[in-house]
Amino acid sequence: MSKKVLNDIHNILKETFGYDSFRGDQEKIVQSIIEGQNTLVLMPTGGGKSICYQVPALYLEGTSIVISPLIALMKDQVDALRVNGVEAHFLNSTLSESQANEIFHKLMDGKIKLLYVSPERLFANDSYLIQQLKRIDISQIAIDEAHCISQWGHDFRPEYRKLSNLKRHFPTVPIAALTATADSRTREDIIKIIGLEKVFISSFNRENIHYQVQVKQNSRSLLLDYLKDKRGQSGIIYALSRKSVESISEYLNEHGFSSTAYHAGLSSDQRMIRQEEFIQDRIDIVVATIAFGMGIDKSNVRFVVHMDLPKNIEGYYQETGRAGRDGLPSDALLFFSRGDAVTLRGFIDQGHDINQNEVLHDKLNKMIAFGETRKCRRQYLLKYFDESHNGQCDNCDNCTRTFDVFDGTEIAQKALSAVYRLKESFGTNYVIDFLRGSKSQKIREEHTWIKTYGVGKDLSKALWQAYIRNLVEEDYLRIEGLKFPVLKLGTKATAVLFNKQKVSLVRVESILQTAKKSQDHLVVKHHDLMSALKDVRRGLATKENVPPYVIFSDKTLVELCHYLPTTENDLLRINGFGQIKLKRYGPQFLKVVKDYCTAQNLASNMDTNTKSVKMRSNSTRSAQAKAKKSASKTQLETLKLFQAGMSIPEIARERDLSNSSIQNHLAQLIYFGRVPLSALVIDEKIDPIKMAIQKTSGQGLAAAKAILGEAYTYAEIKAVLASL
Ligand code: ADP
Ligand code: ZN
Repeated sequence: MSKKVLNDIHNILKETFGYDSFRGDQEKIVQSIIEGQNTLVLMPTGGGKSICYQVPALYLEGTSIVISPLIALMKDQVDALRVNGVEAHFLNSTLSESQANEIFHKLMDGKIKLLYVSPERLFANDSYLIQQLKRIDISQIAIDEAHCISQWGHDFRPEYRKLSNLKRHFPTVPIAALTATADSRTREDIIKIIGLEKVFISSFNRENIHYQVQVKQNSRSLLLDYLKDKRGQSGIIYALSRKSVESISEYLNEHGFSSTAYHAGLSSDQRMIRQEEFIQDRIDIVVATIAFGMGIDKSNVRFVVHMDLPKNIEGYYQETGRAGRDGLPSDALLFFSRGDAVTLRGFIDQGHDINQNEVLHDKLNKMIAFGETRKCRRQYLLKYFDESHNGQCDNCDNCTRTFDVFDGTEIAQKALSAVYRLKESFGTNYVIDFLRGSKSQKIREEHTWIKTYGVGKDLSKALWQAYIRNLVEEDYLRIEGLKFPVLKLGTKATAVLFNKQKVSLVRVESILQTAKKSQDHLVVKHHDLMSALKDVRRGLATKENVPPYVIFSDKTLVELCHYLPTTENDLLRINGFGQIKLKRYGPQFLKVVKDYCTAQNLASNMDTNTKSVKMRSNSTRSAQAKAKKSASKTQLETLKLFQAGMSIPEIARERDLSNSSIQNHLAQLIYFGRVPLSALVIDEKIDPIKMAIQKTSGQGLAAAKAILGEAYTYAEIKAVLASL
């Protein structure tokens, strides 16, 4: 690709969309399409798929056709493009005949850059539209939500099948197929049906989402507590039943929140109105059954809460993925209970297809394991989607807390020998009842004669459940079978049963502890300014009849508050301000910022070299938020060993904690001034690390690590961060 083309596409990105750089694979994908290749794009929700075909559409001569199944999304996309000054239109069933005719004429005159159309419309009347399109200059065909093509995809649409003819109709036009959900089978299907040559698979990691699981006990009051510092922010709360959706929404409104309920029991008009109010930022929170969320692109959803256990990881990931599309720190909170799992199992068993039920049980088991894991949640989720992660994301509840461990050898011996003596043929509940010497009918007569029967009376059922989960995670035990999972001995069992090897277990209180509240995410320095900017945005949105986030994302407003720009040139350096938006909206936003600065006697924070430095990094913030006044007992314990000359892995082994925990201790100790930075990081490395942290501010440690490469460790990065 020539320098000139690269230059041109960067200019389009900056001038039309207001973005400084492409994200991830975007640039390569744009190049691939411009070079005429038929391209498949797999990117998570919020990854930035639209730019991939919108930039080529503007770069190439002629009209780009975008095929999209969701009418609501079409309007959103077209609104967003038009606000940026792009000639974009859609053709679908919501238009009147005369409106449709008008657009059709524009199209035939070659006046439209991007035309969004539903597959139904494309093939209506014996593919009349397709025949007409052949008469004009078509530059590209983009297929959004491309998984609908495959019957393995979860939203198969028969009309999409006809898209397999596209290549025949338009043999020289590049096709781009885009989707956020496709496993390998679906992927192969799409490639084959459309005839694609190039494939781009992005990481599904959503770095800006903080994952957190809380035990479901008094979940409503915990929810209130959680929402306390989230007033005015947009969020979605999912619950299983209509009844609970209604009552949670009422409960929140009684406590001064602005929420509404959304479920399939409402009329479609009611649903549309409520969705619209949420999109327009007139209502903060939607409490919904899973029916809500498909087809909305709202970029400033700051949190997604699950009051009940989702059925599978796919659904959970899709729902939590609706948070933080704008890239700003966002939250996913799940209230976890095994009781929910029992209910869900009941639902599954109502199904008649036994094979299908097995699959569903398996998926549910993996969801439960997610709730109970004490390892990195992000790693777990990514592994589910066949992607590896090092397990130290620093942005999930498990990565940011330390677990207390104790010598659990005796407990482990009891559990393991029970499983052994029950011939590895019974499920967790039976084993626990057996250990506790239950008198229930369920326990077989012959089992009551076994020596281990009743040796675990002293522990409650809940404790046994937690310890057994712990033993499974550490490979002392394993679970086999889907619908009737049975406990079996794991690879590490023999050493414990026969060689008296010691086992450490995690103190249950430290698993069940109320995880610390979500991080203090959006630290907006100037609250009054932020709300004044939101007012301006809302006013413009109403006037132009588009959602507020189409005018500007929250990210733009947050940057305005941080940098306090005072000239039009300054504004161009704020994320989201392209030429058109600068002209259209610049003066109004500038005036609000300037008035505020005058009233508060503040100077602008714009300084070419420090734009990224001034955005305080998310991880710095959470490190500070976590900081207590002085070192804790466990940190002091680590300090003692560190001072005795032990390395991090050695301390981790000695204390039976993870490397990550020890690194966190040392980082805190640096923060408290108990350990000098030089003890952990050599001088030459400090500056490069600082630069990487600044460059990736807000994106988490992994992003900084990616820049620094293998020669730098997480421990070093954390240490420098703490010293800042
Ligand atoms: P997807 O369709 O993959 O869910 P979108 O195309 O809606 O994602 O993009 C998600 C968000 O990211 C949008 O708010 C968009 O404006 C923003 N975005 C996309 N690409 C960039 C970029 N290169 N720089 C900054 N923001 C971007
Ligand atoms: Zn993690």
